Amino acid sequence: IKILAIESSCDETAAAVVVNGRDVRSNVISSQIALHTLYGGVVPEIASRKHIEKINQVIEQALEDAHMTLDDMDAIGVTYGPGLVGALLVGVAEAKAIAYAKNLPLVGVHHIEGHISANYIENKDLEPPFLCLVVSGGHTHLVKVTDYGKYEILGKTRDDAAGEAFDKVARAIGLGYPGGPKIEKISHEGNPDAIQFPRAKVGGGAYDFSFSGLKSAVLNYLNGCKMKGIEIHPADVAASFQKAVTDVLVEHAMHAIDEFGMDRFAIAGGVASNGTLRAAMEEACRKKGVQFYHPSPILCTDNAAMIGAAAYYDFLAGKRDGLDLNAIPNLKLGER
Ligand code: ATP
Ligand code: MG
Ligand code: FE
Repeated sequence: IKILAIESSCDETAAAVVVNGRDVRSNVISSQIALHTLYGGVVPEIASRKHIEKINQVIEQALEDAHMTLDDMDAIGVTYGPGLVGALLVGVAEAKAIAYAKNLPLVGVHHIEGHISANYIENKDLEPPFLCLVVSGGHTHLVKVTDYGKYEILGKTRDDAAGEAFDKVARAIGLGYPGGPKIEKISHEGNPDAIQFPRAKVGGGAYDFSFSGLKSAVLNYLNGCKMKGIEIHPADVAASFQKAVTDVLVEHAMHAIDEFGMDRFAIAGGVASNGTLRAAMEEACRKKGVQFYHPSPILCTDNAAMIGAAAYYDFLAGKRDGLDLNAIPNLKLGER
C-alpha cells in the first residue's frame, strides 16, 4: 500500500510517500521557522498563506524523490487536527482535491497519532502494546497504545505543554523562537544543578503533568536576580530548567511502566529530540530492562512521514473519510 501523506497543522508544510506504513520513500519538509522567528512565535495567518504557496511544490518533490507519480498511490493521508484551523485547511483541501481527481481513498489522521507512529518507521520490531510519552509544542500526553490506532490516555498536562514551557523559558532568557533546540544547545555549557527549580506535582490524576509552575519559577528567579543585582547565567538557567522537565517526565513514565507492567516504552513529539531527555529515559529504561524507542530528530518534529505511517494502520483498519472531511482544530486523541 503506497500512501501520499500531507501535513500542514502548524508551521511545517510537509509531504511524504510511505509504503506499508514503515518504508519511507520520501519525506519533504518546508519549514517556516525563519519567517515566524521575526515575530517570536507562529503567526497563524502567515502560516496559512505560506502553506498555500508551498504545498504543491512540496508534494511534487515528495513524489519525485520517491520516483513515483500520483497514479502509483493507493491512498491519500492527511492531518485534519489538532492544529491551527487555517493551516490544517490547506492540507485537507489539497488532499481532498487529489483524492477526488484520482479517485483515491482519503484517510484523515490525528496529528498526535502521527507523532506516536513516527516510532514505527525506524523500529521495524515495534508493535503495540507499548507506552508512549508524547511531548510536543501543544501536548504532553502519557499514552498506552493498546493496538494500532487504539489509545488510552493515562495522563496529560493541566496547563502548559512541555514544548511550550521550553519556548517560554527560552524567550525569557533571550534565546528566541523556537526555544527547545536553543535551550538544549546552551545547556551544554551550563550546570544542571546550579538552580533548584520545583519538580511539579499535581493532585488527583497520578500521571498528569503541570509545567506552568516551573515556568513561573524560572521567571521569578530571573526577576529576583535582576532586582538583587545578581548576575544571570543563561546556560545554568537553561540546564537547570531542562533537568527539572526531564526529571518529571522520567518519573511519571517509569511510574506508569511499573504500574501497567509495560516492557516497551517510546517517546514522541518535538521535545523527544532532546538529547538530555533521551539519555535519561534510556538509562531509566535500561535499569528496568524495558526496551526504549525514539524517532530520529527529523521524525520527532512535524513531518508527513509520520502521518503516512499512521494513515497506513488507519487504512488497514478500514478508516475512510469522505470529501466532506473538515479540519478539527481541537480534535481529541482516540476520537473519530
Ligand atoms: P503539537 O504536535 O502538540 O500539535 P507542534 O506540532 O507545534 O505541537 P512539534 O513540532 O511536535 O510541536 O514540536 C515542536 C516543539 O518541540 C517546540 O515547542 C520546540 O521548542 C520543541 N523542541 C524541538 N526540539 C527540541 C529540543 N531539542 N529540545 C526540547 N524541545 C524541543
Ligand atoms: Mg513546528
Ligand atoms: Fe506536532
